[in-house]
Amino acid sequence: MVTIAVTAEAAEEPRVAVSPETVKKLAGLGATVRVESGAGLRSRFSDDVLKAAGAEIMGDRAATLAGADILLKVRRPSVDEIKALKPGAMVIAMLDPYGDDAGMKAAAETGASLFAMEFMPRITRAQSMDVLSSQANLAGYKAVVDAASMFEQAMPMMMTAAGTVPAAKVFIMGVGVAGLQAIATARRLGAVVTATDVRPATKEQVASLGAKFIAVEDDEFRQAQTATGYAKPMSAEYQAKQAELVASHIKGQDIVITTALIPGRPAPRLITKEMVADMKPGAVIIDLAAERGGNCELTEPGKTVEVGGVRIAGPINLPGTVPVNASSLYAKNLLTFLDTMFDKKEKVLAIDWDDEIIKGTLIAKDGAIVHPNLLPKAA
Ligand code: NAD
Repeated sequence: MVTIAVTAEAAEEPRVAVSPETVKKLAGLGATVRVESGAGLRSRFSDDVLKAAGAEIMGDRAATLAGADILLKVRRPSVDEIKALKPGAMVIAMLDPYGDDAGMKAAAETGASLFAMEFMPRITRAQSMDVLSSQANLAGYKAVVDAASMFEQAMPMMMTAAGTVPAAKVFIMGVGVAGLQAIATARRLGAVVTATDVRPATKEQVASLGAKFIAVEDDEFRQAQTATGYAKPMSAEYQAKQAELVASHIKGQDIVITTALIPGRPAPRLITKEMVADMKPGAVIIDLAAERGGNCELTEPGKTVEVGGVRIAGPINLPGTVPVNASSLYAKNLLTFLDTMFDKKEKVLAIDWDDEIIKGTLIAKDGAIVHPNLLPKAA
């Protein structure tokens, strides 16, 4: 019998790596699911609900981990947690491996097989395992709802006997998963929405959601998408043209939501302090790239700052502010991934180490870091 352990996250992380639905389905795969008492509480999954779904609720963390084959987490577990598992066990989490070589080395040296869910290849088969998408979608939604609540005016146009309330103007910068959901949410609230991106494929997506696309559409723009569907870093010339366009457009906006990211790099700087100075007092910027340095020069991660009447929020875990949905979707991503690792007939683990989703997410095995992105580059 394969034993799966789920322990509580740290105080700043409200999500959990399991849901009642996934407990039931993991049991169906032939696994015993042990959950540390209280681990699901902040996602409103009580011990009783998880127990009814088939989980064994354990009184403490040590009992949850002792000799388990697999540990599921949202964030990277401590080395002590990993060491409490069966030797060579599997750990599946958002490991956030960049920029912490020492921490990753220590985790690797436990001998566990470490999988980073955020490294899931973006191929059709793996869409249902894509944690970046499942969480970014919620972040895009919540950014608009938070902005609407900070904004001291209404979002939709209202024609009343006492006069007309204008529709809020919302500008979305970066139209990936989060940006698309932000557009859809802002449109549902009745805002007039514009959006920008450097990938040409987004132009049609923006239009199909009823928003207006704004971008510098030169030759470089036409080639800005990599084979894997991500944005390339843009040249200094392009950035200058883009800045000019953004500067003139942003002046008239009420709410700006920025989501622009380039994998493995700091977030591109799209809004300067001069542009903020030109914005209307009462305008709101929500910078979803805060954790990666921010798209706005004035963003402070984890804080809301006010400059010249413009409020700039740099939330660092928006999916964690909708933990019930975020945990359910994250847990489902984990379940779909785990499903590929089981021999359904024998109800045992049967991992195909050559599978591209295993190779793509495997960070460490047998005591060493193995992922090419994390190995020292040959000179
Ligand atoms: P992301 O979080 O890496 O970036 C967000 C957006 O910022 C992207 O649209 C990017 O083009 C944009 N951006 C980067 N630099 C910019 C700049 N200087 N100015 C303006 N915008 C800039 O992206 P994401 O949300 O993870 O999605 C990237 C792509 O991957 C999308 O095409 C998405 O549809 C695709 N995708 C595929 C799968 C799959 O097939 N499994 C799953 C999820 C996403």
